[in-house]
Amino acid sequence: MKTALVIGASRGIGAAIVRALCHDGWRVAFTYRQSEAAARALADETGAAALRCDARDEDATTRTVAEAKRLLAHIDALVYNAGTAWSGLIQDMTCAEWDDLFAVHVRGAFVASRAVLPGMIGRRQGQILFLSSMWGQVGASCEACYSACKAALIGFSKALAKEVGPSGVRVNCIAPGVIQTDMLRGYTPDELRVLADETPLQRLGTPEDIAAAARFLLSDGAAFITGQTIGVNGGFVI
Ligand code: NDP
Repeated sequence: MKTALVIGASRGIGAAIVRALCHDGWRVAFTYRQSEAAARALADETGAAALRCDARDEDATTRTVAEAKRLLAHIDALVYNAGTAWSGLIQDMTCAEWDDLFAVHVRGAFVASRAVLPGMIGRRQGQILFLSSMWGQVGASCEACYSACKAALIGFSKALAKEVGPSGVRVNCIAPGVIQTDMLRGYTPDELRVLADETPLQRLGTPEDIAAAARFLLSDGAAFITGQTIGVNGGFVI
């Protein structure tokens, strides 16, 4: 049975990925930071194991990957999905806020990858999937740090794909467009309508749209795909 650890999955896209993998028969563990009730509900619904861990915390993340390995016996796939948004003028951002965003999006992805890779390389198989963003590809005004984090994940995945490909490990990114989750809280209904209108497919995305791409990238059907960033954005960025 295939096994996966999904980092940051109590809600939104991460929760949809957990549901899709469990539906496909994977054994799954997932982490969350503070949404205890949502995490418990997802674990009850899917049978996945919920582990509380702040992805910004190096020691906690390393310990949690070890705990997931113990629960799952080994980890075939790591999905790094944890993330938060920060919008505003760049001159209003503090260094602490900048570091915090990089810690959750980028350093956490590094720490979790570092923890799963020895097992994957030892078994000469495994997959790592990062949730980037179309803003990491083209940049978003007033989301410069977020865009930089998501671009960093694309660069990281390309380099890592070259480094661990010879050991049988694939590394890819999904770059979602505008997806209807709590992360869009800051947008007004009018702004969301404009974003949908600007999307060639004329709608916003759903967490299930992203989960479908994750499912494919983690499947044997994607066995020859590594170092790629797959846009799932309704055509917003082409
Ligand atoms: P949500 O805000 O709906 O969910 C974010 C998830 O990440 C939650 O489960 C949350 O857990 C978890 N999380 C946040 N911070 C931490 C942390 N420090 N440690 C562990 N877990 C954490 O976001 P989305 O589902 O929309 O986003 C998921 C990913 O997709 C993110 O990386 C985001 O940047 C990316 N993305 C989203 C887009 C969108 O339009 N929605 C577009 C492009 C990319 P908890 O609630 O327990 O804190």
